[in-house]
Order: sequence, then C-alpha cells, then structure tokens
Amino acid sequence: MNIETICVQGGYCPGSGEPRQIPIVQSTTFKYDTSEDMGKLFDLEAEGYFYSRLQNPTCDGVAKKIAQLEGGAAAMLTSSGQAANFYAVFNIASCGDHVVASSSIYGGTYNLFAVTMKKMGVEFTFVSPDCSPEELDAAFRPNTKAVFGETIANPALTVLDIEKFASAAHSHGVPLIVDNTFATPILCRPLEWGADIVTHSTTKYMDGHAAALGGCIVDGGKFDWMAHADKFPGLCTPDESYHGVIYAQRFGREGAFIQKATAQLMRDLGSMMSPQSAFILNLGLESLHVRMERHCENAQAVAEYLQKHPKITWVRYSGLPGDAYHEAAKKYLPKGSCGVVSFGVKGGRDAAETFMKHLKLGTIATHVADARTCCLHPASSTHRQMNDAELDAAGVGADLVRLSVGLESKEDLIADLEQALAEA
Ligand SMILES: *Cc1c(COP(=O)(O)O)cnc(C)c1O
Repeated sequence: MNIETICVQGGYCPGSGEPRQIPIVQSTTFKYDTSEDMGKLFDLEAEGYFYSRLQNPTCDGVAKKIAQLEGGAAAMLTSSGQAANFYAVFNIASCGDHVVASSSIYGGTYNLFAVTMKKMGVEFTFVSPDCSPEELDAAFRPNTKAVFGETIANPALTVLDIEKFASAAHSHGVPLIVDNTFATPILCRPLEWGADIVTHSTTKYMDGHAAALGGCIVDGGKFDWMAHADKFPGLCTPDESYHGVIYAQRFGREGAFIQKATAQLMRDLGSMMSPQSAFILNLGLESLHVRMERHCENAQAVAEYLQKHPKITWVRYSGLPGDAYHEAAKKYLPKGSCGVVSFGVKGGRDAAETFMKHLKLGTIATHVADARTCCLHPASSTHRQMNDAELDAAGVGADLVRLSVGLESKEDLIADLEQALAEA
C-alpha cells in the first residue's frame, strides 16, 4: 500500500459486521474465564489484553498504523512525546551508560537528557548535527548505548544527516533513535535511511488539531541486539521480573524492543495513551498526507515572502534555496520541509515581541504543527531555562521567532504578517 492509503486504512482492519471506525475500548480491564488463561498473558506466553496500562485494542490499532507508516516492525503509543523519547532511550541505556545526541533538539528533550536522565546516571554527549564524521566518532565511549537526533529539529529546523549518524552508531554497535515529529513519515521515513528506532510526539502533525497529547515509538526491527549482547543486557539476558524471559531471543529482532518497553517500562512507569486520545489521533492520521502537503506549500510561500522583507534579518527554512540545510532537505525531505519556519525580526527580542503581539491569525501558543497558524519566541518560553551559550549551541538565538504555518489561506497569512511587520 502507498503511504496515503495507510493513512486512511492502515492498522485497524474490521471483519464483516464490525464497526468501520476503530472502536474506543474504554475499559481499564478485560475479563477471562479462568485464572490460567490470564496467567498465560502475564507470562507473555499468549497474546491478549488484561489491563490497559500495558495494552489496549484501540491503542494497538493506532500504533500498528504508525508502524506501517514508518515502515517499522512494531510500535507502541505513549501518553506524550516526552514519554516516547524517555522510554526509547531508557529501554537500552540505564545508570552508568552513555548516549550521543545531536545538540539540535527540542528543549524538553534536552532537559530530559541533560538534567533528569543525568540524575538517573545516564550521561549524554551533545554533538553538533553538522559535526564531521571524525568528531562524531570521538563522542563515543565504551559504555555508549545509543545515538539520538531529530529529523527536522524543533525549533532550530536543522536537518539531520541521518545516514552519517546511522553509520557512526552502527560502527559502534549501537542503534540510532530518530525523533521524526516534524517531518512525519509523509515527508521522511528515517528507517529507510538507516535509523533503527523512530519516536514521535503525536501531539504535533499526527494529531494535527491541537486536540490530544501523545507519543509513539516505532522499532524498525532490524537491529541485531544479540550481536552486541554485552552492550544490551536488558534485551539479551533474562528479565527476572518476567520469569527469566530473554526478550531478544523470545521475540526476535522484530519484537524485542517494543515488547521490553511495554512489559517492563510501561508496566513499571505507566505512561499509556488513553483509548480516547488514540481515537482522536487516528482521526488526525486519516488526513495526515493531505495536511502535510498543504502545510509545506503554505510554509514555502511564507518563507519566500519573509526572505524578501526588509524587516526580516534572516529566515531558516530548508525548502529555501540557499538555506544551510537545503541540500540535506533535497535528499531527506523531497516532498517538503514541514510547516515550521523560523526567522529573526530586525531589532531583536523587542521587535520580535511587538511583531508577534500584532499578528491576528497567528496566535501566540506553546504549540506547533496544527491546523491553526501559531507562533512562539523560544528564548522567552520553551527554552527560557537555557543561557545564551546553550541557546546558540541548540541553534535557537535570542531573536528567533518560530512560526508554525497552518492550513489557512496563504494569501491571508501573508497579509497578516505584512500588517504585523509594519508595526514592528
Ligand atoms: C513537542 C515535541 C516533543 C515532546 O512531545 P510532547 O507530546 O509535548 O510530550 C518531543 N520532540 C519533539 C521534536 C517535539 O516537537
């Protein structure tokens, strides 16, 4: 099936006489005739549902669709993008381990890694997404367990050289995890470029309407954990909390990563998406391919307009010829560079704030990637915990305005920008 068809019909597949739309199975628990039947589920010996913290049919149907969209082998939903990134990394890196990450990542992920996971004993080395292969190589340590980056970084809009990061990860026997939130599988499928695991904040384009928080982890199913068994004891040695199951043996390359993350992390930490949210997410997925095309078209027009405006000092949008990531975008994002554009307003911080205040269609919101145009000044909001040096390293200068171009008429959007810039 082509990706457009998967958006509409992937995942849930009803039998004769069953509901056409995926049912919302709003039940925490599931009934069994004998304790023995249920025991088999607890022992991971049979497939089925027993408690919605671990698995729920609505969530599974939607996870399956996202796995198909990414071309992966297995997937799981989480309650947020933060939970997805935390689980994806913590599933293979724990106290005493080390991870190499691109410095150009979402502020929330940076905090998760540099502050919270550091307290848990996981160390991160942040490298520039533009580093040379030699610099990247030098970031690895004997205890490195994963490499992490974002396809299109939020909000810096750098485009990750997925092949470069994948080949470095693989030469050190570890997987590459790519957060594909901004690109979505419509614009880029990182697994096809060598990534091993893909994560999403489904809160963004996948939901697309700012309606439901959520996340997803997709495993490509190709990484050979057993070939690097010494590095991944959690997958390659018995899990005593599950009667000694060895995930990589029992579930193979295709199933081990997601099975472990579900059976162990979801069981113990519990960040499941609600069936209600999964249903809403699925409504968004049904039009993802149509919406992404329009987001890209509108953003391209806005970026071209801003680039010519005398009050704009710089524009970052990889769809623009001359953008530092245009070549990378041509390779990894041939269908478009998503709906997010960032730029600097002449006059810095103050001018940016005046400009934003006067926008009528573009509302100020701590959000991106939904149907309504919105904008944000990261230095005074999402990234305010970073100092100027950290802001620069993350590619988010103090003058940066992030505009998430929605699905309105592009003529109306440009007229709105025009009048607000006149005030700045
Ligand atoms: C928003 C975002 C996250 C965090 O997702 P939440 O759903 O808000 O928890 C992670 N990564 C990227 C790239 C994001 O844009």
